[in-house]
Amino acid sequence: MSELQIGGISCRQLAEEYGTPLYIYDEARIINQAQSALDNFKSDMFETEVAFASKAFSSIYLFKLLSRMGLGLDVVSGGELYGAMQAGVDMSKVYFHGNNKGDEEMTMALEAGVGYFVIDNVMECRRLVFAAEDAGIKVRALLRVNPGISAHTHEYIMTSAPDSKFGIYVKDRIHIKEVIDIIAGSSMVELAGFHSHIGSQIVEAESFERALDTMTDFLLEMKELYGIDDMELSIGGGFGIKYVDEDEVESLGDMCYRMVRCAEDCIVRKGVNVTKLITEPGRSMVGEAGYSLYTIGDMKVSGDKHYIFVNGGMSDNIRPALYEAEYGAALVEKQDLPKTMNYCVAGKNCESGDVLIKSVKLPEAMPGDLLVLFSTGAYGYSMASNYNRLGRPAVVFVKDGKSRLVIRRESYRDQYRLEMGGDDD
Ligand SMILES: *Cc1c(COP(=O)(O)O)cnc(C)c1O
Repeated sequence: MSELQIGGISCRQLAEEYGTPLYIYDEARIINQAQSALDNFKSDMFETEVAFASKAFSSIYLFKLLSRMGLGLDVVSGGELYGAMQAGVDMSKVYFHGNNKGDEEMTMALEAGVGYFVIDNVMECRRLVFAAEDAGIKVRALLRVNPGISAHTHEYIMTSAPDSKFGIYVKDRIHIKEVIDIIAGSSMVELAGFHSHIGSQIVEAESFERALDTMTDFLLEMKELYGIDDMELSIGGGFGIKYVDEDEVESLGDMCYRMVRCAEDCIVRKGVNVTKLITEPGRSMVGEAGYSLYTIGDMKVSGDKHYIFVNGGMSDNIRPALYEAEYGAALVEKQDLPKTMNYCVAGKNCESGDVLIKSVKLPEAMPGDLLVLFSTGAYGYSMASNYNRLGRPAVVFVKDGKSRLVIRRESYRDQYRLEMGGDDD
């Protein structure tokens, strides 16, 4: 009977070597996705850049891998920036995003030589000008504009409604002008262009095309009203991935290709000058390449539900509890058996909401079986917590039959390393 393998290694072997729960990444798949974005996000009319949105899975090993391939990096905090610095990534390709960047984070980023600050609001713009002038460091800025495009996705990952917490609404001329004026008065901050990011897990290119249309209209308005020209345009990330069999998703390469053609068309048609187009995929770089491997413990029937309990749960994957996210699963050593059972896969965290999959068809399971969840590579480990003092899983990368420990398992000792104990009272 065939047994599930990832990157040429059996899951059972990985479980024996590294223990479970375990995050496993198929490195070749990450490389393929990154390469297809690089290859398809290209134009003869303007420069292009693909920057990995590190929040999807921030790991030094991954940062090194992607930056060697030529990708830039998005960070949204001092912590993510610190990882980028440890990985030695080219700081000129780092984009510092996020609303409410702290003063200390700004100074840290300025001193590190971060390429771009993405400004969220007027107050932040003032603080950035002050920080850059105080430090005597020049920096390029993009202003985050909210184009008000509603992509079909879950409310919590939709970022572009007119009352969104992110950016300045595209029609809010007053605040946009204020940012432009503040920057115009600074010798240290340069307005390099504009940014928008409309949401996440967007599965059709059409939403991105609408965003490009709105943003190029906006660039034209900036040109006509204020003579701002030769702008860089970052169109954000948000490319969807396949979680369950029913999901229909356009490939990342195709969506990148269509976006660039659409941008070229808008630019020519409207007569605006864009010097560089930037995209920032996060989920689509790492999502489908990642797997969560668990060991099944106890099982029970409760009402009409057949529960499988796994040795992890919402502490290593909060997405089902947070966004009702869905996943597919398989029993590693019973892949070929008929799927005769309907199971509810629940974790061991103390919450009724700690259910990884509400209902999944699987062959009959037994305690000790290995269960794998598919497409957990994005916003899984990066959102993991120590809830109930479950240690965060280890992360391994596999490629060509070889595995590499990228993040070790969090021990009890690791978990209590910040505790002061209070014995000296
Ligand atoms: C989260 C985020 C991304 C990446 O989104 P994905 O859905 O993971 O591709 C890109 N840009 C910005 C500004 C973001 O906040």
